[in-house]
Amino acid sequence: MSIADNLKQYKSEVEADGVKLIAVSKTQTADTILEAYQAGQRIFGENIVQEMVDKQTQLPADIEWHLIGHLQSNKVKYIAPFVSLIHGVDSLKLLQEINKQALKNKRVIDCLLQIYIADEETKFGLAHDEAIELLRSSEYSEMKNVRIIGLMGIATNTKNEKQITIEFNELKIFFDGLKASFFKDEDSFKEISTGMSADYKIAIEEGSTMVRIGSSIFGKRTIKHFKNTSENPS
Ligand SMILES: *Cc1c(COP(=O)(O)O)cnc(C)c1O
Repeated sequence: MSIADNLKQYKSEVEADGVKLIAVSKTQTADTILEAYQAGQRIFGENIVQEMVDKQTQLPADIEWHLIGHLQSNKVKYIAPFVSLIHGVDSLKLLQEINKQALKNKRVIDCLLQIYIADEETKFGLAHDEAIELLRSSEYSEMKNVRIIGLMGIATNTKNEKQITIEFNELKIFFDGLKASFFKDEDSFKEISTGMSADYKIAIEEGSTMVRIGSSIFGKRTIKHFKNTSENPS
């Protein structure tokens, strides 16, 4: 099947459940992304800052660019002018830098807190108590140029569907708790970014509102160029 066919199929499938499709275009060329764009896709996810910046300059301005990978504070300035959602916020320090760069660009940048849900050493994210500590901090309460609109999580890379279900379910329960404690009056806190090609169906059953699908749309990634081990080499 062509990229356009794949795209349309996934888009209609997940949107029927009220879930947003993020087409993960890391390692794909601008031409390939344009194919998906022409098939109607407007939200693309990248995990490397430089790659996202390069593509953003070449592609239509109405694309929503989501940074889905680990983000280093010193790189925030490159994406602050245009990024529409940062999925991987995993420290107060990073959030402070996003706030600072957003202010410089006279914007409010939407963010998700990445919560550690997997049974793996390599995945990034905040533990539950760390996320609560961040939300309670006076530093966070003073930030005017970031808006936390939900949570993101990456499940363990396993075929054990029961385990994946439990991990996504725990994230949903944590989300509901945070919503009640910290975001009761904020309608914008409503997103749960979970699910990739292998586990998006489980994610949707467990409350995902945005799925990040790459290889099932674009085909297996052949080029591996993860210069930095801190990025998710999935
Ligand atoms: C690469 C990546 C995806 C997409 O993975 P696929 O298996 O290709 O669908 C989703 N989320 C993150 C954070 C990624 O790095």
